[in-house]
Amino acid sequence: MQATPTHTIIKSKEELSTYLQLTKSEQLFDQDSTTTLPLRIPSYFLNLIDPDDPNDPLRRQVVPTDAEQIFIQQEYLDPLAEVDHSVTDRLIHRYPSRVAFLTTDVCAMHCRHCFRRRFTGTFQGPATAQQIDEAAAYVAEHPQVKEILFTGGDVLTLSDSNLSAMIEAFRSKRPDLVIRLCTRMPASYPMRITQALVDMLKTHASAPFYLMTQFNHPRELTEQACLAVKRFVDAGIPAMNQTVLLKGVNDDADTLEALCNSLVFNRIKPYYLFQGDLVSGTNHFRVPLELGLALEKELRRRLSGLAMPLYAVDLPQGGGKVPLTTGYLSEQSGCGRWEFRTIDGERRVYPDPITEPDA
Ligand SMILES: *Cc1c(COP(=O)(O)O)cnc(C)c1O
Ligand code: SF4
Repeated sequence: MQATPTHTIIKSKEELSTYLQLTKSEQLFDQDSTTTLPLRIPSYFLNLIDPDDPNDPLRRQVVPTDAEQIFIQQEYLDPLAEVDHSVTDRLIHRYPSRVAFLTTDVCAMHCRHCFRRRFTGTFQGPATAQQIDEAAAYVAEHPQVKEILFTGGDVLTLSDSNLSAMIEAFRSKRPDLVIRLCTRMPASYPMRITQALVDMLKTHASAPFYLMTQFNHPRELTEQACLAVKRFVDAGIPAMNQTVLLKGVNDDADTLEALCNSLVFNRIKPYYLFQGDLVSGTNHFRVPLELGLALEKELRRRLSGLAMPLYAVDLPQGGGKVPLTTGYLSEQSGCGRWEFRTIDGERRVYPDPITEPDA
């Protein structure tokens, strides 16, 4: 095996096999298939992988296997029906108060669980000036839209100047628009987050930015990653994290507990814990809902309210996100008596307010 590389991007099994001894299932991945997401691993992330552990949780997230070529009947290419909810090219309006804009299909790293693999890495590139203008015009005409998610792909693959122009296109029409920068870059390639980037964002101060990260395992919170997030937070940009619940990566309470506590320590609020979407070729990553709900329950016992993410599922066919939790409200027993179970499993009754008899 070769020594660990610096500042390159690994894009093929052949290249990868000079650094890692590929398992049978990894070797069987068909990298020439057009229906699977191409292999793409920045050397920074590769160096975080334990080469001696074929089940390393970071390895599972980036090294493809032939399991991705298994498409089960209940899976979809676009489970959230984002195409149906598109109002302009690349602008998705699914919820009344917020929209998602697919800024680019390019990412620094390809995550094997990516739920937007119908779009990610399809060589379409950044949104064109016309696509940006159409989306900005739509947002200008819909004042009920309070927030825009700059997503993709990974928005931070755009250059500072392209990102600045994109922000300006929206903010010139809607100075009040809250912008969420949805990015895996602090985990995949934290060196991208420079002081110049944050200084550029500061010049667009008419409304807040939020940084939306995706850390799935505590080992992704390296010194560099935390420093990258610190730049945003120190600049007054709050950081929120969305974790995907992934089998063999983070589907145990100890890992999730460590992840959430480490996020809070680094001033990143655990926001969502997502049940895996029904995306084609990701069945091997999905955790049974029963286990997910048990993990949520256990986390709620262990974690502070601040450290506790909301476990949620994005329902198929564009049903939208709903929270997942069980067992606290056991029944409404009539006459305004609400029966609950405490976190420790005890019973308590909470009555409705007594209504005053009519005067
Ligand atoms: C998840 C999502 C949002 C944001 O939802 P929040 O619950 O506000 O985080 C917006 N648009 C689309 C299409 C989404 O999938
Ligand atoms: S960074 Fe995001 S969009 Fe890109 S592959 Fe990973 S999950 Fe998908």
